[in-house]
Amino acid sequence: MTLQLRVYVPEHPLIKHWLAVARDANTPAVLFKSAMTELGRWLSYEAARNWLPTLETTVQTPLAECSVTFVNPEAPIGVVPILRAGLVLLDGVEKILPIASVYHLGLVRNEETLESSCYLNKLPDQFKPQTRIMILEPMLATGGSIMIAMEEITKRGVQPDLIRIVSVVAAPPALRQLSEHYPNLQIYTAIIDEGLNSKGYIVPGLGDAGDRAFGT
Ligand code: URA
Repeated sequence: MTLQLRVYVPEHPLIKHWLAVARDANTPAVLFKSAMTELGRWLSYEAARNWLPTLETTVQTPLAECSVTFVNPEAPIGVVPILRAGLVLLDGVEKILPIASVYHLGLVRNEETLESSCYLNKLPDQFKPQTRIMILEPMLATGGSIMIAMEEITKRGVQPDLIRIVSVVAAPPALRQLSEHYPNLQIYTAIIDEGLNSKGYIVPGLGDAGDRAFGT
């Protein structure tokens, strides 16, 4: 069987709406942040669909015994927001996955070389077997940051097929790198844009997601 990177762009009016708000250069920081939080909520809802482990059992309703399906509370689930901009997605993701552990990863891009480097790493030395990880990286641009995140997470024992990436805007250079190195990965994004400008920004994109969310 040939493995192929799967990129899902959910057809949902709420996702389209909040993306439109985030793209608009006239959107003020406070509304931009809300838009990204909503995108985090709806994209993680979609990403959790075939990823959250469940448990079949029975409960007694007031009237009768009944078969039910719970989210398995024993299964280890982690969310890795890539700072800074991943934090605004996290606010929405926490509504969908309130019991997940949150492991912060701070990556910064050198604006001249476009190389990313890590300044904060709160990942454990080793993840428990079968840990599911959702990575929050709003902008998949050159691929520098997401490739570092994937390496740091997989070398700590997480299988790539148990990872979901939640992004808002994805561009071909990042998707190409991910596809070459992690062919069985699944990505959820609001849109795939055409490409990057000479400074590594996605075009049309939405600008610098961190600066717009935090008003810097
Ligand atoms: N990071 C951003 O915030 N925006 C881009 O367009 C690319 C990387």
